[in-house]
Amino acid sequence: MRTITLINGDGIGPEISESVMKIISASGLEINWDIQTAGADVIEKEGKPLPDRVLDSVKKNKVALKAPVTTPIGKGFRSVNVQLRKDLDLYANLRPCKNLPGVKTRFDNVNLVVVRENTEDLYAGVEEQIDENTAHSIKIITRQASERICRFAFDYAVKNNRKEVCAVSKANIMKLSDGLFLDAYRTVAKEYPQIAQREILVDNLCMQLVQEPARFDVLVLPNLYGDIVSDLTAGLIGGLGVAQGANIGKSCAVFEPVHGSAPDIKGQNKANPTALLLSAVEMLKYIGENSYAEKIEKALFKTLFDGDKTADLGGNLSTTEFTDKIIKHLY
Ligand code: ATP
Repeated sequence: MRTITLINGDGIGPEISESVMKIISASGLEINWDIQTAGADVIEKEGKPLPDRVLDSVKKNKVALKAPVTTPIGKGFRSVNVQLRKDLDLYANLRPCKNLPGVKTRFDNVNLVVVRENTEDLYAGVEEQIDENTAHSIKIITRQASERICRFAFDYAVKNNRKEVCAVSKANIMKLSDGLFLDAYRTVAKEYPQIAQREILVDNLCMQLVQEPARFDVLVLPNLYGDIVSDLTAGLIGGLGVAQGANIGKSCAVFEPVHGSAPDIKGQNKANPTALLLSAVEMLKYIGENSYAEKIEKALFKTLFDGDKTADLGGNLSTTEFTDKIIKHLY
């Protein structure tokens, strides 16, 4: 039986993790979940939000499913999410964004993929308080990380039959840092003549995405733009409750939804487990369990198609009721 790390998170994390484990188990696939807690709740006992045991577990199992973990705002600790991505060198954040059956949105032809660089940019956490009224944050862009993420995006496009990889930047203003990212893109793009190339400024991208998202296929972005744009693209297909993601490195992969821990609806049996479930479906495909992945995806799609939804999608089902509906459609 395959062992997979499950970081069950906090906020709505434990509820949606329960739902996903229940659905996978009902599909007939046996997984030995190595459940690892992390975040604000473990600081008191273990002194930090991301104890070494969590990293060791992912390193050992190579694959993890991760529910959202809250990072306490302000002083003290780095974000668990950022640290996990850095320590495991999960350099590529992959966020496919496609309309779901039965989830009505302004558009019905969204089918794009956000590839976000995961290890540097303003997320490097290099900040300095100059004086009481001034703080600096350093944007770090390297050729090595930029070429690596662009190559990942082009390889993804080739493997998944995509037509175009578009580089997103603000290189007209940040001429050195974003200029370097763009230069890396152009270098890598030469190796993939079969994939169409495009460059766009991030502000123009945002406008065009909300006007006509079908204009875009694969987008490759530095870390911060990737974070913001992927929340925008989540909105195009029904919101954070349905937006899946994956963090992929050379030796490990951590699958997690785009959304955070949604503390406003914690413990109310209201959370939508779809984003975590779709992340788990991708994870199953990644480990070669394609038939179970398809079975679960079909059951989810049938449930949504029938109009059975949680409140964030305009439905009236609780997390557990929605979970049970999906399980009923597993065959
Ligand atoms: P982070 O900064 O950690 O990404 P965030 O500030 O973007 O977090 P989220 O926790 O992602 O915020 O949630 C934003 C809002 O979206 C929440 O207030 C919640 O109401 C809603 N939301 C997010 N995820 C879900 C979900 N799975 N089901 C239902 N509603 C959700």
